[in-house]
This record gives sequence, structure tokens and C-alpha cells, in this order.
Amino acid sequence: MRRNPRGAERKPSDPVSRLRGVGPARAVALGRMGLRTISDLLRLAPRRYEQWGAVLPIREARGGEEVTVRGEVLAVRLHRIGRRRSLLRVRVSDGTGEIEALFFNQPYLRDRFAVGAVAGFHGRVGGKEGRSLLAPKVESNDRPFPEDGGILPVYPETEGTGQTLLRSLLSQALPLADSEEDALPEDLRARLALAPLPWALRALHAPGSLEEAERARRRLAFEELLRMQRRFARARARARRARAHRIEVDDPLDRRIRARFPFPLTPGQERAIADVRADLAAGRPMRRLLQGDVGCGKTVVGLYACLAAIGRGRQAAFLVPTAILAEQQREVVEGWLRGSRVRVACLAGEQGVRERRAALGALARGEVHLLFGTHALLEEGVRFRSLALAVIDEQHRFGVSQRGALLGKGEEVHALALTATPIPRTLAMALFGDLDISTIEDLPAGRGARTTRVESRREPVVGEVRRLLLSGEKGFWVCPNIGKEDPSEEESEEGAREVESAYRSFVSGALRGTPIALVHGRRPPEERREALRKFRKGEVRLLVCTSVVEVGIDVPDATFLVVEGADRFGLAALHQLRGRVGRGGASAICILLAEGEGAGRLRVLVESEDGFRIAEEDLRRRGPGEILGLRQSGFPAFRFADPSRDVDLVAAAKEVALSEAAGGAILSPSPASPPPPPPPPAPAPRGSETGISPPCSRS
Ligand code: ADP
Ligand code: MG
Repeated sequence: MRRNPRGAERKPSDPVSRLRGVGPARAVALGRMGLRTISDLLRLAPRRYEQWGAVLPIREARGGEEVTVRGEVLAVRLHRIGRRRSLLRVRVSDGTGEIEALFFNQPYLRDRFAVGAVAGFHGRVGGKEGRSLLAPKVESNDRPFPEDGGILPVYPETEGTGQTLLRSLLSQALPLADSEEDALPEDLRARLALAPLPWALRALHAPGSLEEAERARRRLAFEELLRMQRRFARARARARRARAHRIEVDDPLDRRIRARFPFPLTPGQERAIADVRADLAAGRPMRRLLQGDVGCGKTVVGLYACLAAIGRGRQAAFLVPTAILAEQQREVVEGWLRGSRVRVACLAGEQGVRERRAALGALARGEVHLLFGTHALLEEGVRFRSLALAVIDEQHRFGVSQRGALLGKGEEVHALALTATPIPRTLAMALFGDLDISTIEDLPAGRGARTTRVESRREPVVGEVRRLLLSGEKGFWVCPNIGKEDPSEEESEEGAREVESAYRSFVSGALRGTPIALVHGRRPPEERREALRKFRKGEVRLLVCTSVVEVGIDVPDATFLVVEGADRFGLAALHQLRGRVGRGGASAICILLAEGEGAGRLRVLVESEDGFRIAEEDLRRRGPGEILGLRQSGFPAFRFADPSRDVDLVAAAKEVALSEAAGGAILSPSPASPPPPPPPPAPAPRGSETGISPPCSRS
């Protein structure tokens, strides 16, 4: 324990207000960042590190080197070059020599420099004589260069908590790192080459090298992963104890169900169905994630599970992310079930009060057996008579709490989640460790070839679409769904305006005379249904739409797809989108309209049809939070861990959590007495153990 100036002892569990410089207002600001105790502060993850190198006498700066210099400003000159370009020159001297910092097209920087004041720069030395710094970084009061040339953590900032404040608080907090108790036993730490906790906390905020910072990150990442795996282990243990209604599918029922599908199943579908059958018969609630590329036929597997439950006298629910999809699936499934006794209904939050009330009544009486719906189906008033199974389609679109709300509508409901975003095994383990996983790796036979191109000019593409329409083909024109912030919202007003104006320009311009319809999430449902129906029948041959078609819209004979502003979509989303075409036997074309840098990112779509590879590329670029919709799903964001990289840690955390759950106390209980003195700092590991990440393994 340390003494603060007022003489009281401080502990890591104390509120941040015990630190100097934290009054009520700042305590609130820190609280908003999740920093309530000193211990929280010690676990604040730097966003990145800056390494400046020690300040160099200007005389010693050599051309081509990256240097840090500091000196008195002698002159500040701004040259305008034409209307939009400018060059700012700031000349400084430190007594050993002079150098000039050059800034291009940033005239506003002029105000940061005053003649006579001291300025610091970090950048590459250029110029004929090595006397200039090209667009260097500028030292600021808030972010001074460390005197010793050390590494500076840069923290996430919010209003009221700048770098200076966070640094000052951490320098007060850091001595308390030694009283943070280390819950990992020595041997486990040694086995995983994890640093002791106090060392890691110190190295996190004051690393001697980037390798040390990485070693610290891994230590804290492991804590995070372990916490999550423990939650999963508890959930699994609970699920093992839970009893659920046994749904046994004997051969007659199996034959009855299969007879409803208009095609034979693929081997992948067969395997997934075998998994599901085993789960349903086990007497415990099923918790399964079914993953498979767009178009591999996951719906059928979900439907099989539903019909199994219904065949045993129970009800099933099928949750989908959009109203359009709910309607479409209801329609298709009703077609397959024609002549059977199974009653199907749909709740999409847009029916009239009467219709809705009738549907709810029938559901509560058990007269409706299979309910399709959007999140409208999660509402309080939706009651089942005997819900036994829930299928959650495009599961990454729903949150953990939504999943929970649905499962809460029956007793020990079996759950099957579907996703077209294939996840590397380790990542799945880290993120969905409480689920069993089935994967469909094949596509139904008879799919035509599909080619994908990236184009930069819109007009020739419109011409091409015109020719395709004239030759009788049908397809989609997708506009970006801009301005959408809330992921539960189907469409933004802005996005709707964009797609409407594209539609109008086609109708009155280049595509005049061809049958075109408009579909987006803000159109009245009746109109939308009508448009889709006509499109399916071929009375409409171009659907101008937003990415509402992304998920699941199924029109097998659509042969082309154009995505405008494709650079605004994630790769996985584009892959989903193009999954809308080439579902029938004919070959299909996918054209991605994008300009500039954004276009380069799309190459992987041109080169690969493998949803798995594309998802990995997306993961690499955007991190799991974005791609899997984890943020909106209520998954705790990882601050330190990167499951796609920390493969070994994920596996180790799982192993520890499982063996704990099995009664093996791997982790020692928290000691009542003060922890032993911290071991000396561990040596920095070799680079190969830190910087370079092992590739995700496919499974
Ligand atoms: P996703 O996995 O993307 O949800 P869907 O379930 O929507 O895929 O199926 C895509 C299309 O393939 C649908 O038109 C569906 O009827 C069809 N389909 C599914 N399984 C088979 C199969 N075994 N043989 C032929 N067509 C199939
Ligand atoms: Mg689907």
C-alpha cells in the first residue's frame, strides 16, 4: 500500500476520486469510460503506442533518418500555391544547428507555432542537405515527447479526459500495480509464457520496448478470454443440468418431413440434420450454431428442426432479421407445406391490429404451429402454448438479450442459430463458446457460374444492365444504405431517398420502358410484397433496392446484381449480396461499382467465391467486432484480446475454464494475506512470439 500526500493508504479497489486531480466532474467523465476504481484505470488499454526516440541534437540529423528534434522557432512562413495548395515552413534552432519542418496543404497549422517558442518534431530528414523534415509529427503540450526517448502510450479519449489527465492519473496509480493480486498460478503462467500481473500492468503503461507492451497485452488478453470462457463453462454446465423436452425423430417422421422438401438434401445438410436430431433427442436444450456460406441451404435445416418439434405436438418459432425475409420465408414454406395440417403465421410488426390480435390468439391456443417473424416476435404480448424450438436466422443480427427473450417464451427451448458468416474455429470458440457448431461446406448442385467485376464508371454499367434486361434477364440494382446508425433499423431516411432517386432516374431515363420496381425498408409492406411477387414471377425484371435484399431474398432465376457504392459495404455483406444471384442453373454476373482506394479492397471478391476466405479477410481488416456485429449483439468487446490472433490463448483459456468447471481448481483461491513480492520483470520474449500472429486455422 502506498501513502498519498494526505497520509491515507490507497488500494487498487479505491475509487478514482482518491487520486490527485480527480474531482466530482472528472470522476463522472472517467466513469463514463468505465474507469471507476484505480484498478480499472490500471487496466485501461492504450489505443496504440508512439515511439519517438530520444531528442537528437539537430546537427546530428542525417538525411533519410527518422529523428526527434526540439528547438526554438526562428521563423514561420506560409506559401500559398494556387487556390488549394500550400506549403508551411517552420524553421527551428537548438543551438547545434537549424532545420526546417515542412507541411503541405495544412495552412491551419500555422497558428500552432510562435516565433521564439519551443517546438518539437518527429519525422524523416529530407532535403538536399538533410536540413528539412518532411511533414513531421508535432509535439504538443498534451502529448510531450518522452525525455528518455521511451515509448508513449496513447489512450482512448473522451470529453473531459485528455492524454495529460490520464497520464498523470496513471503515474499515480502505477505503484499500486504491485498490490494487484495475480490469480494465475505460477505453473500455468510459465506454461503459457504469460507475465505476472503487476509486471504486465506496469509494462502496459510504461513499456521499455514494444515487445514488452505486447507481452503485457497478452497477459491481460488472457484474463479477458478466461473470464469469457468461464461464463461459457457455466452456461454449458447449466445447459447440461437443464432438462428439455425430448424430441425424437423416428424414421416415419423423418420421411414425412423430407417429403416436404422439393429437392434431395446435400451431404452438408444431411450432416447438420443428423447433429440437430441428436441434440433434440438428448433431453437437454439444444444450443447449436449452424454456419455455412450464402445459399448452402441453411433454411431447410432450420425448417427440419421446426417440423420435428411440430410433428411431436409442439410449436416452433423462426426469427429473421427483416420483415421482407419473414414474409418471403412464410410464403415459401407455406408452399412446401400445402395440404398438411401445419399452420404457419408471420409477425413482422406491421400488420393491422386485428390481424395481429387474431394471430396472437391462435398462437396462444396452439392453433398456429410455426411462427415466422422479426424482432416483433420477441415482444411481451407474443405467447406460445408450447414453444419447443427457436431458429434464429442470421444470428449475428440479433443480440444476446434478444436470443434470450425468445428462448424465455417456452420452457428450456431448443435453439438453432444460423449464420452465413463462417467463423474460424478458434474465433467461434472465443465468441460462441457456449454453442455447439455444425458447418455446411457444400452448395446444392446445379448452381451456375458467377463472375464478379469491379467497375468505376456507372454509365457503361447502366448500359450493360439495359442490354441484359432487353435480352430478358432479371436482376438487382443495390444502392448503399447510407446514414444508417441503429443496426436494428432497416433503413435510414437518407438511404431511402438515395434509392428512390436512382429508381426515378432509371424509370424516366436510361431504362425507360423496362419493368422496374423499387424496394426498401421504408416502403409500405403491401407494396414491397407486391414488388417482390412480381419480380419473382418475372413481371418486374429489375429490382432497385437497398441492402434489405442482403439477407436471404431468394429469387433463383435472378442473373445479375449491381452494387452501387460497393466500397461502403463490408466484404462479408457484399458476399451475402451476391449470393442473391446465380442460384438457378444460369450463369450470373455481379458488378461492384466503386472508385479509388475502396475498389482495391474488393479484389478478394473478384478472386474468390469462398465465403470463408472473404470473412477472414474482413476479420483481418475490420476485426471481429465489426464483422460479426458483436457490438450490437451485446458481446463484451475485447479490450486486449484479439481472438483471431491469440489463438493459443483462446485454447488455453478454454482448457482452464473447462477443468475448473470439472472441479479441478487450477486457479488458487484469492489469498487472504498480502501477495508475495513481485518477481523481477520477465525478459522480453523473442519477436517471433509477439508481433507475428499465427494464421487462423480452418476447420
Ligand atoms: P442460406 O443458407 O443462404 O440461407 P437458403 O436456405 O436460402 O440458403 O437456400 C438457398 C436456395 O437453395 C433456396 O432457393 C433453397 O430453396 C435452395 N436449396 C436449399 N437446399 C437445396 C438442395 N439440397 N438442393 C437444391 N436446392 C436447395
Ligand atoms: Mg438464409
